[in-house]
Amino acid sequence: MIDIFKIREDFPILSRKVNGKNLIYFDNAATSQTPQQVIDVITDYYTRLNSNIHRGVHRLSQEATDAYEEARIKIQQHFNVAKPYEIIFTSGTTESINLVASGFSKLLKPEDELVISALEHHSNIVPWQMLCEKAGAKLKVIPMTQEGTLDIKTYKKILNKKTKLVFVNHVSNALGTLNPVDEIIEMAHKIGAYVLIDGAQACAHIKPDLQKMNVDFYVTSAHKLCGPTGVGMLYGKTELLQKLPPYQGGGEMISSVTFEKTTYADLPHKFEAGTPNIAGGIAFGAALDYMNSIGFENIIKYENDLLKYATEEIKKIDGIKIYGDLQKKTAVISFNIKNIHPYDIGSILDQMGIAVRTGHHCAQPIMDYFEIPGTVRASFSFYNTFDEIDIMVKGVQKAIKMLQ
Ligand SMILES: *Cc1c(COP(=O)(O)O)cnc(C)c1O
Repeated sequence: MIDIFKIREDFPILSRKVNGKNLIYFDNAATSQTPQQVIDVITDYYTRLNSNIHRGVHRLSQEATDAYEEARIKIQQHFNVAKPYEIIFTSGTTESINLVASGFSKLLKPEDELVISALEHHSNIVPWQMLCEKAGAKLKVIPMTQEGTLDIKTYKKILNKKTKLVFVNHVSNALGTLNPVDEIIEMAHKIGAYVLIDGAQACAHIKPDLQKMNVDFYVTSAHKLCGPTGVGMLYGKTELLQKLPPYQGGGEMISSVTFEKTTYADLPHKFEAGTPNIAGGIAFGAALDYMNSIGFENIIKYENDLLKYATEEIKKIDGIKIYGDLQKKTAVISFNIKNIHPYDIGSILDQMGIAVRTGHHCAQPIMDYFEIPGTVRASFSFYNTFDEIDIMVKGVQKAIKMLQ
């Protein structure tokens, strides 16, 4: 069971005021808030450990290196990954995807095909379009349905011997749809294609077992799961990471450098050129510790209760339409009210101290599919309360009165 009042005390930002009102933070799908336990780890790093890692003989450098590598092991264990070097630290989901896309540009042939889904975030669309331009490969799209799910029957038809890579998000950030990734991976593997799953939206709600999923690449960002911004990870199977060329050249990624030839370092360093976000990496580990101390079963159960309640209450509002009102989804409600522009609702809610997101949520193809400019998106976390949902629903009703 979740002790919501104790949990809320861990998040200093939740007690601040916005426009004279208590902050209600319902923009968790864009970024989550940071608990004191994680803030303390960042402060402690700069207070006690700050130094550059991996190349120092001195004490601080060794301690900082140990803390950074311990964080890698925490991440490895959290996601049930076979080897610590299969976890590559990156600046986040976007960089992780670009790293893989850039690497594949040398491995693809012009007749090859890549498959993405209609439910993707722009960061899981644009790098692949750029890759296709470079390699001359073709991009195919798994269509979506009116319900906000993926059309798996058509996916099966799209797959063929020329398919080399498939990219799908675990959870859609715009609608909250939980995609059938196990099935998607299995079907791709049958025809010999590799799969990258974008887990940015999933990992705050689900604890994925990457060996069980048998996924080839999995990417996520720390800031969506109570960690800091500017740090994330790429998981890749060893043989694939070995096959991919380095993404960036620089210090720390080489084994020897002469002007004739440079040989690359072993995994994971081959992909970690330059000084990384050391405090961020350590805090990523601390964020996973924090979430595990609450427990993902507890988080999922509580968030599902919040989602169910919020969906019921929001549906009572006249003229409301929810996009992706599904059984299998995370705690995200994307909605519109008749012909009111989502931005207008969002601005009025902001005056009441309520943070929701409005717009296309970096998923313009989904908005085009529904023929709307965007939605109002309320996304919940385990530190939100039922009272906050009541206040938001009243706020939306008040906004409608003001706008009509
Ligand atoms: C947030 C998000 C991203 C982008 O993550 P960054 O941390 O901005 O790189 C990509 N995909 C999904 C599904 C997301 O929710």
